[in-house]
Amino acid sequence: MTTPEKTPEAPATTEVQTEPTVAAQPATKPARKPRTTASKTAASTTATTTASKPKATKAVPKMPDEVLEVAVVGSGFSGLGMGIRLKKAGLTNFRVFEKASDVGGTWRDNIYPGCACDVKSQLYSYSFEPSAEWSNAYANQGEILKYIRHCATKYGMYPFMRFNSKVIDATFQADKGEWLLTIEDGQLVRAKNVVAAPGPFADPKDPHIKGSESFKGAIIHTARWNNAIELKGKRVALIGTGATAVQVGPAIAPDVAHLTVFQRTANWIMPRPNPDLTEAEKQESRDNPLKMKLNRLGNYWLNEATAPFLILKYDAFKSVPSKISNDYRKRKVKDPELLKKLTPNYKFGCKRVLVSSDWYPTMQRENVTLEVSGIKQITPTGIETVDGKHYDFDVIIFATGYEVRNTGAPFAVHGLDNASLDEKWKDGAEAFDGIVTNNFPNMYFLVGPFTGPGHTSVIAYAEAQIDYVWQAIELRKQMNLKYITVKPSVEASFVKTMDQRSEHTVWKSGCASWYLSPNGRNNVLYPGFNAEYRMRIMRFNPSNYLLIGTDNQPVKPSLRDHLSTVKMALTA
Ligand code: NAP
Repeated sequence: MTTPEKTPEAPATTEVQTEPTVAAQPATKPARKPRTTASKTAASTTATTTASKPKATKAVPKMPDEVLEVAVVGSGFSGLGMGIRLKKAGLTNFRVFEKASDVGGTWRDNIYPGCACDVKSQLYSYSFEPSAEWSNAYANQGEILKYIRHCATKYGMYPFMRFNSKVIDATFQADKGEWLLTIEDGQLVRAKNVVAAPGPFADPKDPHIKGSESFKGAIIHTARWNNAIELKGKRVALIGTGATAVQVGPAIAPDVAHLTVFQRTANWIMPRPNPDLTEAEKQESRDNPLKMKLNRLGNYWLNEATAPFLILKYDAFKSVPSKISNDYRKRKVKDPELLKKLTPNYKFGCKRVLVSSDWYPTMQRENVTLEVSGIKQITPTGIETVDGKHYDFDVIIFATGYEVRNTGAPFAVHGLDNASLDEKWKDGAEAFDGIVTNNFPNMYFLVGPFTGPGHTSVIAYAEAQIDYVWQAIELRKQMNLKYITVKPSVEASFVKTMDQRSEHTVWKSGCASWYLSPNGRNNVLYPGFNAEYRMRIMRFNPSNYLLIGTDNQPVKPSLRDHLSTVKMALTA
């Protein structure tokens, strides 16, 4: 195993913070600059943010002497978890590069009213850091961000963070067996291994509705919420009815003068009772960590049991959950006309099944209208629908989702022979075990292609991948290899299996969703149980890889090397 290294020193060209710049701020308020441009589209709002970023330096960047063992890109749950894993294993020669000024990923960026997690917090948290402090079974954004910051502090991650450091390019130097990363401000970083953890929900999706630039009021995307925009007493439009909309709509409806919801597709909804946890219940958890662990385990296996119902397309698995959701809707929605509008017309599970106990009550409020005519255009004063109606608005909210990258690379990546990852993934991202792709050695993806959760917590996938990546990094070091890259045949076989299994899933049963790439292929979600995926990647098997030694010759893994990975898997 790794010999513990010295405490890190900051690379010469960079500033390493020992404390988070935002540590003194209330945990529920992420560090962000207030935006003054409130009345423009999501795209222009993003432009406002970009404009405030440090400008690229004109000076020739200095090639650092230091070579990091690992560069992690992103500090959401998975990137931060990777850093914690590396440090726990005794490694200190690593850094976590984060484009923003705080940890937290999507939970730092999404601050819209009502933002919460629809997976129970006992499961939507690190297995090694259970918390007894959640206020509810399903925590809100503020508490989740607070938890992430707590983990970053407790596990001593801040000295390893490099904030305001957006990685824009990674190029593999085959002669040295290392990656050269370029940060947006022009600095260069050398690293033997790169772990990319950019997260699927980093960038808001602009719906590109005609006329949006002409709107005189405020347009805001949920993923770039601006608290400076006043909603109280305003006429508000909410475009979209997905997982985000069903959270923000009920949260703002009591305050606005009128809310008009523009629904393109009705969704399957399950109730989500979420009572406050009492102080006595929290104390019981604090006093009894074993009970907390069992609770987590119980939630895990309960979610696993739902997998066939949420994943498979066959009617045998659809009748029961469809009936539960249909009965719930019929119980809650009294007006037959509204009931009809809220009834989905696609198979249960094809899009994400939503959990909300307040969406249907919100739709029946006096100050809420559900509009199902398509949007023709945004006008200077509101929205015109395809059937000729015009609504006046003060504020338009886009709850239209994210630019999920199921094609192309998350940033410019050039591997062996200068191969471009963007080019390789132009029709859809692919990776062996969702983690590695051939020709891009010593590079690992967390929550990569095929490994999104269809039915459970994303952290269950990320933690298994983190252990796998650690084994790969450690073995490469032990074997003194220049680089390792997955064999093309191994990757192709895995991708074929994923494609074949995806044919049995409900995701390909005819609806449109962010799970599918433009050619209709699922390369986002794992078409199976999480437990099975964890078993699959429990041990890093060097036989699946081309191992290249320092003399540029292929190396065959010995029995000792295999046993070493077995030991690492068992002691993870
Ligand atoms: P989404 O699921 O992609 O939904 C976007 C919504 O906007 C859909 O209703 C879509 O309609 C609508 N839309 C998009 N473009 C439109 C247009 N031009 N005109 C009219 N309507 C338009 O996005 P999301 O709700 O932000 O959720 C994305 C993912 O984020 C979720 O699936 C989930 O994984 C994650 N999320 C998780 C939580 C959580 O609690 N853990 C909360 C929020 C989000 P169509 O359905 O017709 O396309």
